[in-house]
Amino acid sequence: MTSQRTRDRMVARLRGKGIRDEAVLAAMAAIPRHIFIEEALASRAYEDTALPIGFEQTISQPFVVARMVEALRGEARLGHVLEIGTGCGYQAALLARLATEVYSVERIAGLLEKARGNLRSLRLSNLRLVHADGTRGLPEAAPFDGIIVAAAAPGVPGALLQQLAPGGRMIVPVGSGDQALCLIERTPSGFTEKWLDAVRFVPLRGGKQ
Ligand code: SAH
Repeated sequence: MTSQRTRDRMVARLRGKGIRDEAVLAAMAAIPRHIFIEEALASRAYEDTALPIGFEQTISQPFVVARMVEALRGEARLGHVLEIGTGCGYQAALLARLATEVYSVERIAGLLEKARGNLRSLRLSNLRLVHADGTRGLPEAAPFDGIIVAAAAPGVPGALLQQLAPGGRMIVPVGSGDQALCLIERTPSGFTEKWLDAVRFVPLRGGKQ
């Protein structure tokens, strides 16, 4: 139920649904997703579905995680990355395998503590977890080559655009009712945006708790 074979089957399904980036697929085959989910639900960890992680939040479905990380990478190695919305820490672990350095911020202290516990056994030395309101980005660690937002906002927070390095990419779900993934790239003259899949995310909220 939680074995390598189950993970390999999940990866085969992601491939079937159009995920092409081999580095992302390899990382998803390696990271044990079930350790991020409470025991009662762990048997469903490799289904292509979102699951509750407490505090009224959810871990995104594997396809959406794969799609976002694939878009963020654009087939290049990720350098200095910011994740907004650590949640249970699964996507942060994935990013840490693919990037030089990852900062992941979460506004709910209790969830961040849970993520710390979940991540401990993976010993990812290039991952830093920070209790902060991600709508303000993380100025002390900016600029970032990549920013990935795991909660939906009606519009892209200006602070995040400002903290993107030239040539950097950001993937963010945008919309208050209907939501879609938006891929933003910082060019020498400004920003470009490209709209990808329709999605359903929990809202990005300001403040800490
Ligand atoms: N990447 C996560 C998905 C978490 S769901 C995972 O793999 O589990 C989205 C998370 O974003 C929630 O934990 C929520 O508390 C957090 N969030 C929402 N608004 C935020 C903000 N302004 N700053 C930081 N985290 C935020």
